[in-house]
Amino acid sequence: MSNIAIAIHGGAGGFSQKGIENEQEIHDSLKAILAPAFDVLKNGGTALDAVETAVRLLENDALYNAGRGACLNSKGKVQLDAAIMNGANLEAGALACIRYVKNPISLARMVMERTKHVLICGEGAEDFAREMNVELVDEEYFITEKQQKSLKTEQEKVLKEEKTETKFGTVGAVALDKDGNLAAATSTGGITNKKYSRIGDSPLIGIGNYANNETCAISCTGDGEFFIRSVVAYDVSCLMEYKGLSLKEACEIVIHDKVKKLGGEGGLIAIDKNGNIELPFNSGRMARGFKTLKEEFTGVYE
Ligand code: ASP
Repeated sequence: MSNIAIAIHGGAGGFSQKGIENEQEIHDSLKAILAPAFDVLKNGGTALDAVETAVRLLENDALYNAGRGACLNSKGKVQLDAAIMNGANLEAGALACIRYVKNPISLARMVMERTKHVLICGEGAEDFAREMNVELVDEEYFITEKQQKSLKTEQEKVLKEEKTETKFGTVGAVALDKDGNLAAATSTGGITNKKYSRIGDSPLIGIGNYANNETCAISCTGDGEFFIRSVVAYDVSCLMEYKGLSLKEACEIVIHDKVKKLGGEGGLIAIDKNGNIELPFNSGRMARGFKTLKEEFTGVYE
């Protein structure tokens, strides 16, 4: 019980200068989400339950690019991706390009627990959502003024051939429970102005999301295409498993060396089987935090 822990993130961002206007709001939101998610673990709940609880709350908060408040694709629509993984048995469930599902992470868990598949996309996933009786909402539920403005700005920049900004807001959680089980969950709207039906790293097991009791649990955020090409989450796990590196050393190599050399910006949250936590990022900022029995932290730039 002594090393139960949860870490969460609300996405990385491309600005290197300090001072986004809603920094305090992000700290408050992360704290408010860490508390009930950690309670799940304190009350003897599983790592899977804790990460699902955290990600549902992050999806419901319009501050982040997941669920309500998700970014818009080039057609001005929301298409959501999510994944969850159980480190105890390496079971996983994921969804790509879904609309209407209020909490994609819970449906991803149903893919894991109630089908023989790992990843379901598009209309088929929406049919599955209807079969599972999960809460469905109109497309308008997800769309916020902030994301409409971001899409407009982004599309204007493309027209003017100006450099576009990288702003990420994917959400995720990793946890260790009292039985030593690890779990990871990740949910996202992807990136603003993405091509219709583009799929990023978040729903891809071993890339944006991974959990293995023998090594670590990981949830990523950043330039999805670079994260896919760097096979980020499994690479961290492999460096631990096959090279015997610590979580810290493995994260350092992957985020600050491999992904960066390719030109990718972003970060990850990670926890190992001993409850060690790492929250590295190579972008200007990353909203993230953790809670253990002894410590609590939330950060955006630090
Ligand atoms: N990694 C996500 C994607 O490329 C974006 C993010 O982290 O916000 O879909």
